[in-house]
This record gives sequence, structure tokens and C-alpha cells, in this order.
Amino acid sequence: MANIIGSPSRYIQGKGELKNLCSHAEKCGKNLFILTSESGRKRVEPVINEGMKDTSCAVTYEVFGGECSKTEINRIIDACREKNGEVIVGIGGGKTHDTAKAVAYYMNKPVIIVPTIASTDAPCSALSVIYTEEGVFEEYLFLPSSPNMVLVDTDIVSKAPSRLLIAGMGDALATYFEARACQKSNAANCVGGKSTKAAMALAELCYDTLLENGLSAALAVKEKVCTKAVENIIEANTYLSGIGFESGGLAGAHAIHNGLTAIEETHSLYHGEKVAFGTLVQLILEDADSDEIDTVIGFCEEVGLPVTLEGLGIKEVKPEKIMDAARLACAPGETIHNMPFEVTPEDVYAAIMGADAMGRYLTCDE
Ligand SMILES: [Zn+2]
Repeated sequence: MANIIGSPSRYIQGKGELKNLCSHAEKCGKNLFILTSESGRKRVEPVINEGMKDTSCAVTYEVFGGECSKTEINRIIDACREKNGEVIVGIGGGKTHDTAKAVAYYMNKPVIIVPTIASTDAPCSALSVIYTEEGVFEEYLFLPSSPNMVLVDTDIVSKAPSRLLIAGMGDALATYFEARACQKSNAANCVGGKSTKAAMALAELCYDTLLENGLSAALAVKEKVCTKAVENIIEANTYLSGIGFESGGLAGAHAIHNGLTAIEETHSLYHGEKVAFGTLVQLILEDADSDEIDTVIGFCEEVGLPVTLEGLGIKEVKPEKIMDAARLACAPGETIHNMPFEVTPEDVYAAIMGADAMGRYLTCDE
């Protein structure tokens, strides 16, 4: 199997960069078809129009229906044809991006992703998650390539609720540890190859950036300001983690996240918040160095990511529920089987309880 790294053709990040959308997009085509929410359009349209004046671009908008379903994708394909859209632009959160990516794929057109939050590492990926109209997971649509362009306006992202950027740090926290596990086991990454030195280096840089800038960024976005630390964290959450997870590979943390979704109480938590706890569970599972575990727990506590079951919203710990989650984490095809040793549901159960105990011990005030 070859070593493969995937990446968007261009990643652009800067304060006020949304204004330059048209001048960046011009390289891909002139008629931009922008998919965003009603309220999103109100916020972005004046800014985009201002920058459009100096370009030869024209822009049309389509209001996103809210679900990345086949019906919605087909509706948007029709709308895009009618308006002669040449470049698909998805502005907003994950479902808007996934829909824009799927539409561009089926229409064989370039796609530009503009995240307005940095809560996951999905914007750079070559993947759309398709749901039914009722919002139930249906399938993964694996795309042949990453978006042509990912454009992040850090002014906009830093003004989103702080919990979203912090959740993004939780998603990014897993990247290095999962890539490291895949490297040890020689497992395949998410783009159908083996990891490269570049992907591993980005995953490591992602972790280092979190430790260096995480607290400072979390505090700054609570004040809705965009400091250099916030910019670094946005890059870590979106780009470093994006390339790191996809081209480095997933392992225990995300599988444990998927298992935890079986527990009702965790539903109000964001993806990245559960992934952060999943990371701690993976570290216990692999009996990682105790200094490393201390560092990870310390980081989570500082920025406000959960390190206990209580922190995940589970007030009363029922062993059978935890066992259900452990079993789900070990389902056939789950990425936990990319760990460099065999993992059973019993191992995961023990690691979840061990992580919770460690989290409680290291964060208690006495
Ligand atoms: Zn994730």
C-alpha cells in the first residue's frame, strides 16, 4: 500500500478574509453559487459584495434547508443548474459544508468551504456525511478529493460561542494520538493509503499548538477577540487536525466517541467534547506514559473539556450502559481496530472507568 496524503488545494486563513472570497474564487470560476443559511446570508452578503466589486465574479445565494440529505442535495443541484453556478461555496457549519461538497462532486464543479466556526476538523476533508431527511445517519460519501479551497475568516470564527472553538480543540486533541497509534500498527489512513512523514509532523504540530495556545485562545474567544493564539488554534483545529486525522488515520478516540453516542446523556455534548474524553480513554487503553496522561488531563481541565463521565453529562454511572458503549466502540470496522494491539469491549470498559477515575482524581480540589 502506498503512502498517501490528502489536502485542500489551497487553505486561506486571515482576519476579514471573507471580503476577498471573490478574488480567491476567481481562479476557479466566475459564477459563485453560495449555499448558506438565511441568517448567514444576512451576515456575509454585504461583506462579500464589497469585495466582489473589484472582481469579475457574480454571486447567487441558495438557502440551505438544514439537513445534508439526498433530497436536499438533489434540490440544490437543480437550483445550481438553473442559476448557472460554476463554483459551489458552502458557508456555515458542518452540514452546509457536507452538502456543498456533495453537490460539487455530483456536478463535477469546484467547491470552496468557508467555515464560520472551528468546532471540528471536517472542513478540509474529502468526506460528506449523508443523513435521512429526519436527521438519521445514512451513509458516508467518500469524495475523490478534498475541497479546492478552504477559506477561514478568523474574525468571524472568533466571534462564535467560545464552547465551539473549545470543542474543536477536543477534536484536534485526538489527532496526534490516533495518528501515532496508526503509525505503530501500520494501519491505513482515511484516504486509502499509509501515513506520510508530513501527516505525522502536522499531527504533532497540532498537539503542540494546542498545549502552547489552547488556554490563551479559550480565554480570548470568551471576550470575542481574535489574538494570535486564537489564529493558531483555528489553524490547529481546522487545517492541522484536518490533514492529521485524514492522512494520519483514526484509532481509539473516535471509536470511543462513537460508542459514547449510545448513552443518551451525552447527546447534548459536541463531537469534540466527547472526542476529548475518548482521547483520554485511548491513552489509558494503551497505558500511555503517566506524564502524558497528566498533560492531557491538565490541558482539558484548563480549557474546559470533559475528563470524567460526569463531565459528559452522565450523572449516574450504570455499568451496563458503559458496556454498551464499549461494545459499540469495538464494532466490526470501527477504527479502534487500528490500535497496535487487539482491543475487546472489556478492555474499553475498563479504560473508560479508569479514565473517569483518573480524571476525577486529578481534577479534584482536595
Ligand atoms: Zn472528529
